[in-house]
Amino acid sequence: MNGSTGGAGSRDTGGPGSRDTGGPGSRDTGGPGSRDTGGAGEAGTRSLDPMPQDWRRGLAVVAHPDDMEYGASGAVARWTDEGRTVSYLLASRGEAGIDGMSPEEAGPLREREQIAGAAAVGVDRVEFLDHPDGVIEYGLPLRRDLAAGIRRNRPDLVVLINHRDSWSGGGLNMADHRHVGLAALDAVRDAGNRWVFQDLLAQGLEPWDGVRYIAVAASPHATHAVDIGDTLDRAVASLLEHRAYLEALGQSEQDVEHFLRTHATRVGRRFNGTPACDFELITL
Ligand SMILES: [Zn+2]
Repeated sequence: MNGSTGGAGSRDTGGPGSRDTGGPGSRDTGGPGSRDTGGAGEAGTRSLDPMPQDWRRGLAVVAHPDDMEYGASGAVARWTDEGRTVSYLLASRGEAGIDGMSPEEAGPLREREQIAGAAAVGVDRVEFLDHPDGVIEYGLPLRRDLAAGIRRNRPDLVVLINHRDSWSGGGLNMADHRHVGLAALDAVRDAGNRWVFQDLLAQGLEPWDGVRYIAVAASPHATHAVDIGDTLDRAVASLLEHRAYLEALGQSEQDVEHFLRTHATRVGRRFNGTPACDFELITL
């Protein structure tokens, strides 16, 4: 479905998988999975601390459908099992992520797949903003939209994916991830300031300065981890809900499961020996 010019590389124009140069397996040469083998020890050997427990409401802010499922959804399943509430806010609908499918067709399809993937880990609130997949710009409109989402959800914890220029293995990150991640970091502050984006007040969105933690998944500077030994199966299931997308990339169920299990096992070696999901924790 990727067409003759695209293949997995076609994701470089927009899909979340474009943070890699190939399928999940290829992430070992450049994607987040490589941070345990390619980080020259910077992030690969440090032991990880348990995530704080003193929060109740989480909000994940990411660029595309599947960003959460490529690594953090096992932690989300653990959290929702514990009775916490987690919601997702996506800047785009991932409409530019499938080379062989028009954005008009891919957007609604990927939206449905994302909602199913979220449901697999106990998330029933998924919001999509309409920033254009592949060309999301850092700027005040994005910050305003994300600040509004933070005010609507009033989270204690915000989850992001890596916003840095590269993954620890040296692979380049993509613009959408950089821009959304950075804008979300700024929007956490904006959400708490009454005098920033005053038009939000007129919409009834009162300031929210209750974010205590920001957890950045797939960061080259991971500091903390969540045991996902009991939820890894559901993490795999959540990614497999992106059926059409994975099919377009030529990824089999076995590829997906192998990638997620291998990575979780590597992270677990730096934590408590069980499969784990790592985060860079920013305390506010
Ligand atoms: Zn993405």
